Order: sequence, then structure tokens, then C-alpha cells
Amino acid sequence: MDKAWFDTAQYLIGGRWLDAGAHLPVVNPSTGETMGQIVHCGALQVDAAVAAAQSALSGEWGAMTAAERGRVLTRIGVLVAQRAEELAQLEALDVGKPLRQARADAIALARYCEFYGGAADKLMGETIPYQNGYTVYTLREPHGVTGHIIPWNYPMQIIGRSVGAALAMGNAAVLKPAEDASLTALAFGRIAVDAGLPPGALNIVPGLGAEAGAALSAHPGVRHLSFTGSVGVGRLIQQTAAQNIVPVTLELGGKSPQIVFDDADLDRALPFLVNAGVQNAGQTCSAASRILVQRGVYDAVVARMAEAYGALRVGPAVDDYDVGPLISARQRKVVTGYLERGGDLTVAARGRVVDGAAEGGFYVPPTLLIGARPDHPLAQEEIFGPVQVVIPFDDETEAVQIANGTDYGLVAGVWTENGGRAMRLARAVRSGQVFLNNYGAGGGVELPFGGSGLSGHGREKGFEALYGFSVLKTVAAWHG
Ligand code: NAP
Ligand code: MG
Repeated sequence: MDKAWFDTAQYLIGGRWLDAGAHLPVVNPSTGETMGQIVHCGALQVDAAVAAAQSALSGEWGAMTAAERGRVLTRIGVLVAQRAEELAQLEALDVGKPLRQARADAIALARYCEFYGGAADKLMGETIPYQNGYTVYTLREPHGVTGHIIPWNYPMQIIGRSVGAALAMGNAAVLKPAEDASLTALAFGRIAVDAGLPPGALNIVPGLGAEAGAALSAHPGVRHLSFTGSVGVGRLIQQTAAQNIVPVTLELGGKSPQIVFDDADLDRALPFLVNAGVQNAGQTCSAASRILVQRGVYDAVVARMAEAYGALRVGPAVDDYDVGPLISARQRKVVTGYLERGGDLTVAARGRVVDGAAEGGFYVPPTLLIGARPDHPLAQEEIFGPVQVVIPFDDETEAVQIANGTDYGLVAGVWTENGGRAMRLARAVRSGQVFLNNYGAGGGVELPFGGSGLSGHGREKGFEALYGFSVLKTVAAWHG
């Protein structure tokens, strides 16, 4: 792996790598050991990053055509793809993500760069029929400086979808990665510079949320905020954005259901049911943490999921077990706290932490729970760990009621061989994405994504993101 990738005591501003003097430890979640450090940026560095982004907009970056921006992004994507294995190794060490899953993230990052590289020159305005003597048209322009505050669970994918789309539209980005997962963000910065991204188009300020994150979200020079993370911090970001009257995209959590009807193809459904709960140790905003099952197949689904859980092995990320550790001791405490609150539920099955996994690692065995009423806290609140609850239902009406019976609305899956029912459910379920007889659809770089309710608002991913990362201007020309 590139040695520079471990020289992480630096931040990126205006194409230059600098040391802020203060540092934060980098912890390997598979062992609990400190393996390096990142810089601890504050308001000073954020000010400088925003200024560098503004200079980029009035300099080389701002002068580029959409096609030229697209070419740079495409080049970044090619380099990311070439170095996907190294990025995956780095991510496995830093966030405890099993290698196969980390590889998928690196490949998705490359694909986002490719997708948004190709899309950069394809978002067009319109001409609008108006009164005689006028020609009216619309322009899509960048916001200016965009702020990106991202969490630790899918850093590479979230950088791809948010920074990728923002750069495609000609914005200049300031990225605040999560304190617990900054290494691949910094490596991405190095790759972007190598690929010829003009100085200041992307600036990276690692640090703490309450300092660097708060400074970035409150900065009057930032004209759009993209935040992915918890509901609590999302609220703060939206309040802060209100002071400066800037738009925000909030990608918050979820309590997403997969709904299994009696007539479902269980052989096809089963891997999706389990994977979507334990992938990335359940630390996935779109995790299917609720499995709703029609009574006719309830016992069969629980038995088959339990069998799959029994076979799950939990261990160090670099050894690529089914499930890795959680990100931090703090997150492990949150998840074990939930398991204690679910003491009245029945454990249908658990995965197993492998012998030899370091004592200090943040491991939690995946746990399948039954016996929860739909209003049980574990069926209502986001746990963000490898825990799924299975809940029975009688009919379509009840399935929709339970599915829509939380404050969230991010993703839903429906399993049925009845096409009409699938279409009805797709409309009735309140969520930003609905998957019929699948879940997650291969990563879905191309598929607009976002929530309703506490899951947030705004859409990222796909072509749709380009609308959010641009501003519409209407030009009315009178020519007689
Ligand atoms: P978090 O605490 O909200 O942190 C997210 C980001 O916000 C981090 O970079 C964090 O920095 C920063 N931050 C914290 N306090 C801040 C403040 N006062 N002002 C500005 N920024 C601040 O969330 P997390 O614990 O890292 O991630 C887990 C949560 O994110 C879960 O609830 C999950 O559902 C949600 N999530 C949602 C999606 C989605 O796409 N919908 C994707 C992933 C995660 P530091 O961590 O460095 O302090
Ligand atoms: Mg770490």
C-alpha cells in the first residue's frame, strides 16, 4: 500500500497537504489498538478550506467546461478502480469492514466517479414557451462551495455519491469525514490530486463533528450542505443551515422492513433477508432491521434465517469473515444496550465470534430476535448493529400498517409472486426506495436514494442528485 496513505496527519486544502499540529488517534476496530493518527482540524482550517474552494471556483476549476470536469472525474474513477484492493485493505483496517465488503465499497466509489464523470455534461436546461417576443430558458448552475459531512459506515460510497455529484455540477467541495473513518477519504484526496483535479476543487478537513463539522455547517461561505449521519446531528445541521438560508440534503437513519408474503420465493429471498441485516455488522442506514412475515410462512422463515445466523462467523476484517467488529467501543455499547432492552424477546439464533479474535476488538454476535410487537423499542428504533427482529402479519393491510408504523421511511423490500400485490405495496409503503423481489439491487449507484420522515429529505445517487447539487436560473429575453 502507498506509504503516503498512512501519512494521515495531514489535511488537504487548495491542493496542498498540511499538518494542523493537533491529532486524533486512528483505532483498528478488529483489535481495539491505536494504529495511527489523523489531524484534528478546527474552525481555522475550515475557514481556509472554504476560502480555497472559493478560489477554485474563480480559478482553474471554475473555468472548466462540463465535459472537462467529467473527464477529470472519470480519470479519478479509473485510478480508484486500479487501486481498489489497496483502498479495501485500508478500509478493513480502519473501520473493521470485512474485505469483500470493503472491496465492494471501493468499486462503488470508482463507479460513482465513472457515473458522475459521464453525467457531468448531460444535465441540460429547458426552453419555455412564453409570450410572443420572448425567449425563455433555464440554466443549471453550481451552488458554489458545498459542505459534505459524512459518517463512518460507508465512507467511500458516500464520498462517491455526494462529492462525486457535487463536483460533476461544478461545485467546489469541502469534506469532513467521520473521526472514526478518515483514512480512505484522505487516500481518495491523494488519488484525486494525482488524477489532475484542480487545487481547491476538493478540500478535506478531518476532525471532530462538534468542531470541524459544526464549523463547516455554520460557515456562511458554504452554499449547500450534504449530511449523512444520525437524526440528532441532522436536526442540528438543518437548524444551522437555516441561519445561512442554505439547502440541505439529509440522509439519516432507517428502520427498513422486508415484507415476505406466503407466496414468496423463499430460496431467492433468504440471502437478501439475512445479508441486509448483517452486512457491515448492521451499521447500514438501509439495513433491513425488520423482517415482516405472513403467518403461513412465518415458522419456515424464522427456521431458515436461524440456520443462516447459526452459520455466521464474526472475526477480524482483514480475515474476511461474514461479519466484522462494530466501528467503536461506543457503538458496541449502544448495540449491547439495545440487546439488554430486548431481554423480553426470544433469541432465535446467534452468530459466533471466532476463537482467536482479539479481546479488544469491538465484536457483537449477530442476533435474530422474535416475539416483538411492532411497537417494541427494538422494532421501532434504529439499532445500527447486527440485530434483526422478525414480526408476523396476517394480510396485506396489516403488512402495510406495520411497515409504515415507524418514524422512518428509507427503504423497503417486498417478496411476493403476486405481481398486482407487489405493485400495490410499492405504492402503499412509505419509503424512498422499494425493492420488489430483491433488496439493495447491486449497490444502485444509478438509483436515486433518500428518505422520508426521520430518514431525511433530498435525494442523492443517480442522475437525480445532479438536481440537488445545482441551482436553476431562469433567463427571460425580450427581443420583440
Ligand atoms: P453522526 O454522529 O451523526 O455523525 C455523522 C457525521 O457528522 C460525522 O462526520 C460526525 O463527526 C459529524 N458530526 C457530529 N456532530 C456534529 C455536529 N455537531 N455538527 C456537524 N457535524 C457533526 O452519525 P454516526 O454515529 O457517525 O453514524 C451513524 C448514524 O448515521 C446512524 O444513525 C445511521 O443511520 C446514519 N447513517 C445514515 C445514512 C444514510 O444514507 N441515510 C448512511 C450512513 C449512516 P465525528 O463522528 O467525526 O465526530
Ligand atoms: Mg478506525
